Amino acid sequence: MIQIYTGNGKGKTTAAFGLAMRAKGRNKKVGIIQFAKPEESGEFISAKNLGIDVYHFGHPGFIIKKPRNEDYNQAKIAWEKAKEMISGDYEIIILDELNIALYYDLLDVNSVIDFLKNYKEKKEIIITGRYAKNELLDLADLVTEMNLVKHYFEKGIYAREGIEF
Ligand code: ATP
Ligand code: MG
Repeated sequence: MIQIYTGNGKGKTTAAFGLAMRAKGRNKKVGIIQFAKPEESGEFISAKNLGIDVYHFGHPGFIIKKPRNEDYNQAKIAWEKAKEMISGDYEIIILDELNIALYYDLLDVNSVIDFLKNYKEKKEIIITGRYAKNELLDLADLVTEMNLVKHYFEKGIYAREGIEF
């Protein structure tokens, strides 16, 4: 199945890693690729400690309007690794923030869909990130939208270690 966690509310990445943790507990072979994540996060460290194969890619700094060359390069490398995992012996593959890479056109959505289509029946693929493309939503078997009701960001409370990263 293909699952998508999108929307503006908090909880997309942590839901995907929660699923990875559940699957690993059942001895499934789990692979995780984080797109547009230049820094090591708490979830990355924990997944590694659980023996999950996890990789993160990305160019430091925010994309302001226009992506930089290195954003494209990093997305390409991440997608190559993702394809290797999906076509390999992994049973559950998490593509964290793939939606963001597609939103900025770092990757071609049609090539991504053409590839994923072939594995829809064979693998469990979880895609996270805001602004999921309609073409991808059409392909998915499950779509959950995290709806923003309230966020402490509005009170000036920004990313905290162990809670946001
Ligand atoms: P989490 O990683 O906590 O599961 P997420 O994957 O749903 O959150 P992203 O869209 O990847 O969130 O955003 C990256 C970070 O920005 C998150 O750590 C999150 O806490 C924070 N964030 C999420 N929603 C908002 C918001 N509406 N305003 C400001 N910051 C937010
Ligand atoms: Mg996220």
